[in-house]
Amino acid sequence: DPVILWFRRDLRLSDQAALLAACADGLVVPVYVLDDDAPGDHAIGGAARWWLHHSLFSLDGDLRAKGSRVILRRGNAVEQIAKLAKDVGARRVHALHHYEPWWRDAEAAIADRIDLVLHDGNYLAPPGSVTTGAGEPYKIYTPFWKALGERMPPAEPHNAPREIPVPTSWPGSDDLADWDLLPTKPDWATGFGEDWTPGEAGARTRVADFIDEAADYDEARNLPSQEGSSRLSPHLHWGEISPAYVWHRIAAAGRGKTGVNTFLKEVAWRDYAQNVILQFGDYASRNARDRFDPMKWRTGKTADADFAAWTQGRTGYPIVDAGMRQLWTTGWMHNRVRMIAASFLVKHLLIDWRRGERWFWDCLVDADYANNAVNWQWVAGTGIDSNMFVRIMAPLSQSWKFAAGDYIRQWVPELAALDDDAIHDPHEAGCAPRDYPAKRVEHRAARERALAAYAQMKAAS
Ligand code: FAD
Repeated sequence: DPVILWFRRDLRLSDQAALLAACADGLVVPVYVLDDDAPGDHAIGGAARWWLHHSLFSLDGDLRAKGSRVILRRGNAVEQIAKLAKDVGARRVHALHHYEPWWRDAEAAIADRIDLVLHDGNYLAPPGSVTTGAGEPYKIYTPFWKALGERMPPAEPHNAPREIPVPTSWPGSDDLADWDLLPTKPDWATGFGEDWTPGEAGARTRVADFIDEAADYDEARNLPSQEGSSRLSPHLHWGEISPAYVWHRIAAAGRGKTGVNTFLKEVAWRDYAQNVILQFGDYASRNARDRFDPMKWRTGKTADADFAAWTQGRTGYPIVDAGMRQLWTTGWMHNRVRMIAASFLVKHLLIDWRRGERWFWDCLVDADYANNAVNWQWVAGTGIDSNMFVRIMAPLSQSWKFAAGDYIRQWVPELAALDDDAIHDPHEAGCAPRDYPAKRVEHRAARERALAAYAQMKAAS
């Protein structure tokens, strides 16, 4: 009998528990449904659509090499899965668990209509399974990591099945090109292809390339001018590789080495973020600390102009501008710079973190509901586990401290001729070229404004 294999953010054949179970259960009909309605304002963003196009193309190729293929359907996922099951006479659906609020709703609705078997495997440990002694989920990262660490390593990853049983005839499929996932006018993604190879093979190459660098990760990861981190985030987001595979390959490179330990601890942030959205479903739309609800974020024309300048990388703060332009050009931004740029929006420009979250959502190839919202709320101070709002990051000293000179020269070409003494704050050094924008706001004034707004909010709550 046919069974459906429902792909979502798990676009791989290796260590894919749903695929293995489907192969053991019947003739496998793999399907991907593009559902732009259920996620509401978190429908897949522009940069992520570019990635998805290439990843689906790659997945289909990998399946075809085994005589199978991926069926593409568009529309309400619940309806489409139910319809496909009826069309092919499938009695069961296999899928990996997903924890975004809209996917949990869809899973419940599908399970009402057909036998849906959900498998684990996109996280180091099933989200929700790491609990305190009292059986409560963790809210704070550090104790979460301690408890998760005790359960590591994860199970050894499985290889891809050698054979995939295929149905006697294939149901109809959309044409990937008709989905228009790639940008056209203008094609802002021309630079993406130079940096990225979406798909399972590309993900494995990325892991292999990082193995030798993992030992130095501890320090190198904080320096935007170096390629010190793994750049696995889009591959992990799209599930082109399992975290168990990443864990075992990198741990084999030297579990005792500080760099390797720090790296594995970062990968665990991904698990932590899922645990957070499992407890607080609308994490991208609501302050986890609701005492921030009365906060008077700036709105109106000047705030909008500041927001636009931030998105375009024209704030007059080189490190922020470099990050925002890297984001636009490549669909990715260095983690340290994500923190600096996000903090600048929320505290220096006093603009609601949710506007920044949405911009990142649209621009990142690794845009991930949990990781993005958890990190934005961490930076903003509104999160369940966060930095304190009153600890205001100074972007210019951060730029110095993490030696971002070469990074700025790469992404802000107007400043390319400046030396290390001047490049972090060319206005202060009196050598800002004429085509480089003035500072949207002075650091000290911005700091005072943010602290005043915070004090006012506290008085109001
Ligand atoms: P590495 O340093 O090599 O880390 C390895 C993996 O661990 C990453 O690929 C990622 O899967 C995970 N990881 C690392 N740091 C974090 C973290 N802080 N939170 C959650 N997972 C982490 N990451 C996303 O994957 N998607 C997002 O939408 C996203 N939005 C962010 C927004 C803001 C404001 C900030 C400050 C951070 C955000 N991050 C997000 C986290 C982090 O910046 C990226 O995961 C990291 O920069 C990806 O680069 P890498 O793969 O080289 O990371």
